[in-house]
Amino acid sequence: MTLSIPFDNSYARLPDRFFTRLAPTPVSDPRLIAWNAQLARDIGIDRGPLTDAQLADFFAGNTLPDGAEPLAQVYAGHQFGGFSPQLGDGRAILLGEIRTGAQRLDIQLKGSGRTPYSRMGDGRAWLGPVLREYLMSEAMAALGVPTTRALAAVATGDPVLREDGPMPGAILTRVAASHIRVGTFQFFAARADRDGLRALFDHTVARHYPQVKTAAQLVEEVMKSQAALVAQWMALGFIHGVMNTDNMAVSGETIDYGPCAFMDAYHPATVFSFIDRQGRYGYANQPRAAHWNLAQFASALVPMAPDEEAAVEDFTRLINTFPDLYEAEWLRRFGAKLGLADPNDTDRALIAELLKHMEDHGLDFTNTFAALADTIPDGLEDWAARWQARQPDPALMARANPQVIPRTHRIEAAIQAGLQNDFKHFEAMLDVVTRPFEPAPDHAAAPTEAERVAHTFCGT
Ligand code: AMP
Ligand code: MG
Repeated sequence: MTLSIPFDNSYARLPDRFFTRLAPTPVSDPRLIAWNAQLARDIGIDRGPLTDAQLADFFAGNTLPDGAEPLAQVYAGHQFGGFSPQLGDGRAILLGEIRTGAQRLDIQLKGSGRTPYSRMGDGRAWLGPVLREYLMSEAMAALGVPTTRALAAVATGDPVLREDGPMPGAILTRVAASHIRVGTFQFFAARADRDGLRALFDHTVARHYPQVKTAAQLVEEVMKSQAALVAQWMALGFIHGVMNTDNMAVSGETIDYGPCAFMDAYHPATVFSFIDRQGRYGYANQPRAAHWNLAQFASALVPMAPDEEAAVEDFTRLINTFPDLYEAEWLRRFGAKLGLADPNDTDRALIAELLKHMEDHGLDFTNTFAALADTIPDGLEDWAARWQARQPDPALMARANPQVIPRTHRIEAAIQAGLQNDFKHFEAMLDVVTRPFEPAPDHAAAPTEAERVAHTFCGT
């Protein structure tokens, strides 16, 4: 009995030095934790009469679906500012791609065993980060944010050793527009591999930006996608946590959910990631981090240009337009949160004033905006009068301000229950966070002081 996935694997047709072909490492006792039936239907994967146990076998990597050409992709990347010339899928295997309409989608197992790029890692993932990524990425999709998706989660039956001792292993099946990262371009640039760069450029353009002809145009398109993406993150209080260049997808999707979190109380300096001691990737630093990554992306494309010096000048000019692009996106998103379809500079000041008030009073970011149409926070009466004078559109506000987000303390509780083999919390939470614009009073509350989780774990 096989799983019907209509594979058409274009990445596997790229030159050999783009990846290493290898199969996932089998696991002892695969069990299906979650199956995204809706996503499967949407992308044309038919489980047919397969039982959960058979499905688990496929998404644990124990059985390969027909047409899969498993491989680990190689890439490079700046991690917290330092360049690693070779990273790669250290614990992920691309099974292949499927086509839905004009789009190609990668089907990737994450946590599927060691690869030549594993370095010191065990190639595995434990249950916590798998449940976290599942909840986060599906919530982001429901919130309308470009993101990789979660198709399945399986428990492996094998323990994984982490800081706190042995944890149950798990594998996430990730669906992505592609796994081409800024760091993928950096890999070839660092080797002055112009043919490799050209092949990657052609592949990327065909896949994501078919109208693009030149490297400069690609820089511009990726810049636009990232400006729009990061503005969406900011408008939702989302903190990615590890904006290294290997974790920035050229497609413009949110990718690599690690120590990410939605902010509860608003503060621009909010950082969750335990390993981010300097706050490099804290909430307010995200646009700057994106800008810096885009500069690295442009640098990686320079060796493609016939006149490299001219390209450096060109690309520098281009990259310098990022702050304006981003600011425009930011204003549009935050304007919408206040019900203003066409916000101006006075509105920008109005938004800043509200955020300052939220910061000074430790107000919950999501809930303050969600309630704003009905409830003005104390001390903002004068502000509210000026805002009302702008005739905010309540329908626009309702579409821009979610009622519920996946809160860190709730994810933590779902993981703790999952560790006891109880996935009802996870399922209930998934159901609610994938309908984020519907009221869900039981799930919307900010954490109490005792419930607050200060740090997201680093041992993913
Ligand atoms: P990240 O910052 O989590 O996206 O990971 C950075 C790099 O470390 C990537 O190349 C990952 O494939 C690799 N990596 C992370 N965790 C593991 C692991 N448990 N085993 C092997 N490689 C890993
Ligand atoms: Mg990564």
